[in-house]
Amino acid sequence: MTIRFTMLGSGAVRDNPRRAGPSQILQVGDQTLMFDCGRSAATSLAAAGGACEAIDRLFLTHLHFDHVVDLPYIVFTGWVKGREARLGIHGPVGTGDFVSRIIRPPFEQDIDSRVGHGKDLESLDPDVSEVAGAGEFLVDDGYRVSAAPVDHANMPALVYRVDAGDRRVVITGDGKPDEGFTDFCRGADLLAVECSGTPEFLAEQPWGHWHLRPADTARIATEAEVTRVMIKHLVIEDITGDRTAPYRMAEQVRQGYGGEVIVAEDGLVVGLS
Ligand SMILES: [Zn+2]
Ligand SMILES: [Zn+2]
Repeated sequence: MTIRFTMLGSGAVRDNPRRAGPSQILQVGDQTLMFDCGRSAATSLAAAGGACEAIDRLFLTHLHFDHVVDLPYIVFTGWVKGREARLGIHGPVGTGDFVSRIIRPPFEQDIDSRVGHGKDLESLDPDVSEVAGAGEFLVDDGYRVSAAPVDHANMPALVYRVDAGDRRVVITGDGKPDEGFTDFCRGADLLAVECSGTPEFLAEQPWGHWHLRPADTARIATEAEVTRVMIKHLVIEDITGDRTAPYRMAEQVRQGYGGEVIVAEDGLVVGLS
């Protein structure tokens, strides 16, 4: 079974033209799983050979706009292009309300216009389920998905883990996990983890305490015996324009972790089987 991770967007909030907003794809056999859908996720997906209508499930880590802003585009483009089944969306508490308000109400005129020209409504509305607690919440064809809560910005926020065959991939959004996170990551082949800034940079930001430090990632990855780490959500580059900063953060992770450390780039693919 093919298991392939594709980084679609390695940036964060700001409009850095080199890095799209947070989004990634995990291909598991014939299933296309998307994690977050930040700015330009759909375009990056097309550049990587994918398509909105072919996404089977979308997992949202939290509802900060940088992680979800492409959602209406993905839903409407999938619908227009003839999606065969409804898009499955999984996310923290609040996701159902968010999706119900962002698809139909603002685009009422568009929907009426297309339906008036013969488009049927089937497959427009996503099939949303909220992930309320920690642990395994989904078993599908050849893979299992689990979630763990993180402490982030006083909002519901999750980290996801996919187990497929003997492979394990952990994908974070933003935030600080609890002590159980090391066990959650145990033996992962890939930990794709937010790395928003150096400790000095984060200390200067009013939101800096919402995020993991490189040394935290190193400790977790070492204790959990993770094979490789990919750092992403590279806010520091978005804000300062310093393209060397992500590589300095990678070095900071390497100081406490002996495995492979990858600096995310949009379009980067990691084959896992
Ligand atoms: Zn973010
Ligand atoms: Zn956030």
